[in-house]
Amino acid sequence: MPIQAPQWTDYLNCPVCCREFGAPPRSPISLGCGHTLCRHCLKHLHRKQCPFDQTVIQVEAEELVVNTALLQLAGYTPPAQPYHPPCIQALPDHDRQAYDAIVRCLEHLAVFLKYCGNGE
Ligand SMILES: [Zn+2]
Ligand SMILES: [Zn+2]
Repeated sequence: MPIQAPQWTDYLNCPVCCREFGAPPRSPISLGCGHTLCRHCLKHLHRKQCPFDQTVIQVEAEELVVNTALLQLAGYTPPAQPYHPPCIQALPDHDRQAYDAIVRCLEHLAVFLKYCGNGE
């Protein structure tokens, strides 16, 4: 069997647990040495070292940031938080939900709007 070159999709899996990167706790975390593993595996390392090249991990797991570019490649987009201006944030929960529903309706309607121009 010829040795197969790694496919780019191989990089979408955590090399420790072989699970695909995605929602927490499978968020991909890039270490300083350039290796990437999921937060779950990072938390369960026996030593604070990269499992591939033994580079000591200097910072706390919580402080390492998620590799969002890789996450998007893996087809996972973090759920978008609806934007709330401060006056909406101050509303009680059910009013805020109503606001979200209205925004969704308007966005839905906007699809049907057409630019009329200046009348030709
Ligand atoms: Zn993992
Ligand atoms: Zn490494």
